[in-house]
Amino acid sequence: MVTCEVCHAKESREAMMDEIFRTAGKYVRVDHIPATVCIRCGEETFSRETAETIRLRVRGQAKPAKSIALEVFEFTHASKI
Ligand SMILES: [Zn+2]
Repeated sequence: MVTCEVCHAKESREAMMDEIFRTAGKYVRVDHIPATVCIRCGEETFSRETAETIRLRVRGQAKPAKSIALEVFEFTHASKI
């Protein structure tokens, strides 16, 4: 049983997540990460083993499954539309 770090709910479900990570100045997406999702607030949590596996995949020499273009938007009050 995992207790949510955000809202301290004890109910969660298992899910597969896609997450974007930044490493060495570039962004990479890791698909199908097994995660625990809080039923109340939706906070996603990865196990330590999962986080370590992601770190090795992203920083290691593993070959990406594919490459995609990524558009980046900045959320800032200073910019005018
Ligand atoms: Zn929560």
